[in-house]
Amino acid sequence: MSFEFYKPSNIKEASELLKNPGYVAVVGGTDTIVKVKGGFYKALKALVDLNGLFSKEIKVEGDKCIIGSACVMNNIAHNPVIVENFPALAEAALSVAAEQIRNVATIGGNVGNSSPVGDTIPALYSLEAEVNIVGGEEKRTVPINEFITGVGRNVLQPGEMIESFAIPMRKTKGAFQKLGERKALSISKINLGLSYWNDGKPHYRIGMGAVAITVLRVTKAEEFLEAAPHPLSDETIQQAAQYAIETAKPITDIRSTKEYRKQMAGVLLKRALNAIKN
Ligand SMILES: Cc1cc2nc3c(=O)[nH]c(=O)nc-3n(C[C@H](O)[C@H](O)[C@H](O)COP(=O)(O)OP(=O)(O)OC[C@H]3O[C@@H](n4cnc5c(N)ncnc54)[C@H](O)[C@@H]3O)c2cc1C
Repeated sequence: MSFEFYKPSNIKEASELLKNPGYVAVVGGTDTIVKVKGGFYKALKALVDLNGLFSKEIKVEGDKCIIGSACVMNNIAHNPVIVENFPALAEAALSVAAEQIRNVATIGGNVGNSSPVGDTIPALYSLEAEVNIVGGEEKRTVPINEFITGVGRNVLQPGEMIESFAIPMRKTKGAFQKLGERKALSISKINLGLSYWNDGKPHYRIGMGAVAITVLRVTKAEEFLEAAPHPLSDETIQQAAQYAIETAKPITDIRSTKEYRKQMAGVLLKRALNAIKN
């Protein structure tokens, strides 16, 4: 297979290139290159290298934490603002692949790939993140739970790119749980991000991946936990886990069966709730 490779020097140039059919954006390349080699892109005409166009930084701006789309997993996992305030995301980033890949794999690529098993996505759901999009007629912002529309599909129009992610700045407790074949270099059979904060009343947000075509919020468990007496009892945690099992709509595939995934949805939520209990 032959294709062109472009290295645009600004966002406008990148956007014009990406409006062409068969032109695919690449940053770390850890998803894209595997797909190119595997013949996934049947009509690939060109790769468009976005390196240098988007920020790799994490900064606090007013009441938002802004994560540049080119920020790599290891930077997210060890950044003090993220570790202090958004532990679900720090743990999710640290669970991706292995050290070498985490040094090049970006959060923009993880979300841009829009896989139901992408590890940062349930954590971003639990933190009510927004996706800042550029390259179209005008900049726009989309809540993460409206960004991904199906397996490998999202709301980006031709020429649009992810500039950054914005997370409401508040101190959360949180946990990320993942069930894979092994600890490192393993794609999730199911994953779960939990965030909790208290602004006078308790808030729980739970994102669950690999149990449907996109990440699901476990709203029944969230509402139940918010109304429950605190600290949470074992019975409350057990009931919340039951809601996670009921919410999960997994399929059987090469990585796992639907019955096992459903049961494990409950186990992962139980583990996550116990992890943030103290
Ligand atoms: C061995 C191995 C193990 C892995 N393990 C895991 C794992 O445990 N968990 C996990 O979640 N993932 C895993 N992955 C997948 C991958 O590493 C991640 O999804 C990574 O975050 C992708 O980032 P990237 O910069 O390499 O993306 P790229 O490959 O460069 O791009 C991925 C997709 O996103 C699009 N894209 C990238 N940036 C933008 C942007 N700014 N705007 C719009 N679209 C964009 C690209 O067009 C492409 O479709 C693994 C991959 C490998 C090879």
